[in-house]
Amino acid sequence: MVGMGVFVLLNLQPTPPAPPSDVTPDPNATLVPTRAPILQIPALPQVFPTAAPTFTSTPTIPEVAIVAGHWAAEATDGAPTVPDSGAVCPDGLREVDITKSVADKTLDIIRGRGYHAVLLQEFDPLYQKEPQFKPRVFLSIHADSCLVGADYAYATGYKIAHAEPSNNEQEDSRLVVCLTRSYDKVALKYNKPFNANTITVDMTAYHAFRKIDPTTPAAIIELGFLGWDREFLVNNQDEMARALAIGLDDFLKGSPCVPATATPEPTETDLP
Ligand SMILES: [Zn+2]
Repeated sequence: MVGMGVFVLLNLQPTPPAPPSDVTPDPNATLVPTRAPILQIPALPQVFPTAAPTFTSTPTIPEVAIVAGHWAAEATDGAPTVPDSGAVCPDGLREVDITKSVADKTLDIIRGRGYHAVLLQEFDPLYQKEPQFKPRVFLSIHADSCLVGADYAYATGYKIAHAEPSNNEQEDSRLVVCLTRSYDKVALKYNKPFNANTITVDMTAYHAFRKIDPTTPAAIIELGFLGWDREFLVNNQDEMARALAIGLDDFLKGSPCVPATATPEPTETDLP
């Protein structure tokens, strides 16, 4: 989860009741080195003399980068890490278990489609590097809080947002539309609405949006709420991953993802 707020991007289904105003931002996680992207050098026939490569330290730039929300790699040197599992339910169901699983499944599918795709930690060391990390598309996967009960009837459904303000509004919006169009088919099947009322400043000001190249098309998704949407989140991860992979694939292939005549306009609303 990344909190509660007021910015509305698009609303493809009826919205649940508005949330209360209290906010629970994510705590920080630890920094743990992650595996570097694999540099793939195709084998060349030894017919022509080849110049010595001058780019030996330049890593391959991935096409797709996916953050498993709140996930941090296990330390290999025995050093303790600060666990940050995001939202946690009273019985122990953790946001990070959902996000890591869906991220892994999405990566499997998108790699199967031939893309070079990488898994990122919540606070990935790549964010520290210069020049700034610039994949062709960036997606951070989260799930929302474990609130249940009558007071939290609003706490259901999913949402997808990009940075506000955006440094690449057209492509950021197209990415959100591509992902929403695809994920909504799965969510609708399980009666999980696009919950525009719970798109928050914590989503639109998501920390990693400001740590990658600012023109990178980037989005964050809250797959659903751990409370009311628990069974949806636990039991349908393959479908979720397929939908996210399709949305990313559509985006990378340049699809507008909506008919030009039906492009939804972002709207802003103020909660009472
Ligand atoms: Zn989260």
